[in-house]
Amino acid sequence: KPLLPINVSKPFNKPLLSPRGVRMDTDSSTAAVVQHHKKDKILLIMGATGCGKTRVSIDLATRFKSEIINSDKMQVYKGLDITTNKVPIQDRLGVPHHLLGEFDPDDGELTPSEFRLAGGLAISGIVSRHKLPIVVGGSNSLIHALVVDRFNPELNVFDVSNPVSTQLRYNCCFLWVDVSFPVLCDYLCMRVDEMLESGMFDELSEYYCSVDSASQTGLRKAIGVPEFDRYFKKYPPGSGCGRGIGGEWDRVRRGLYEDCVREIKDNTCQLAKRQMGKILRLKGAGWDLQRVDATESFREVMMASSEDDDNKKKKKRRKKKKKRWMEVWGRDVMEPSMKIVKRFLEE
Ligand code: ATP
Repeated sequence: KPLLPINVSKPFNKPLLSPRGVRMDTDSSTAAVVQHHKKDKILLIMGATGCGKTRVSIDLATRFKSEIINSDKMQVYKGLDITTNKVPIQDRLGVPHHLLGEFDPDDGELTPSEFRLAGGLAISGIVSRHKLPIVVGGSNSLIHALVVDRFNPELNVFDVSNPVSTQLRYNCCFLWVDVSFPVLCDYLCMRVDEMLESGMFDELSEYYCSVDSASQTGLRKAIGVPEFDRYFKKYPPGSGCGRGIGGEWDRVRRGLYEDCVREIKDNTCQLAKRQMGKILRLKGAGWDLQRVDATESFREVMMASSEDDDNKKKKKRRKKKKKRWMEVWGRDVMEPSMKIVKRFLEE
């Protein structure tokens, strides 16, 4: 595909580059990005999948003049919005989001080097609009590629035998939203059920029909796609084998469906564990990650969700618990996060 020219002074309101128009050479315009970004302040919100990064980013973006850049390696692609948990437009509260659902998965896998360049351009655009770039997403390899001064695509820094550089090309504030693993895992299992209720299964059936299931790259690696593969092989969507004959699922099909859901839950918890390991590795190497603990608020949110609002009394109790959850979230997560960001911006 032809490479599009890069114009760094152009605002980055819509994708500046075609998906694979990301230019990998260092011509004078990319050099311009390199020159002025050392002093540019950026906020990075890190944390395992499901720990509340998105909520923190939007809460902060409504308080500080900012725009958000996605750093989740599955959410960069178009499609599978429910499965990959992209923040819906109405929940973005008007905050511009970049690199979220912008790349066509058919163009192949977005490499960390391409992310470094596309993210770098998004940052330049946001800075030129006098706003704070907020980078949010669980993919630590992308975050690493974006911020280190010298990026070597050949080196896997999450392999313990390789060094992690602390020389960064931006003035970075790292906010780490942490939730204790067992609490997060319970929450993630509940979230998978909610995602399925809000249409994940139908989205995956449609996706299965539209792509080559043998391929194992890019969006096809999103949790949910490989796990449901054997189900759709046995019960192809659109052949009368969707949700079951006459609305009733036969026992075998239901069993297979439940196995796939269990696998999704296990793999999501394992992803969270791996991501936590990577964050600890960056912290151990000297990255100045500032931790906020969202564990207590997650306990509260789960208690609130366990209340069915099938009668007036329970509805009232649920409302009270939701209020309690919002108080704890404000106290444990938002207040310290705002202090951290304020201090960083005043430095
Ligand atoms: P790596 O070092 O493997 O590149 P990473 O920390 O950069 O890891 P992760 O974000 O941990 O990347 O993603 C690893 C895998 O987790 C993805 O390939 C995908 O299978 C799954 N995954 C990550 N994010 C999502 C998501 N939003 N939706 C579904 N699956 C996801």
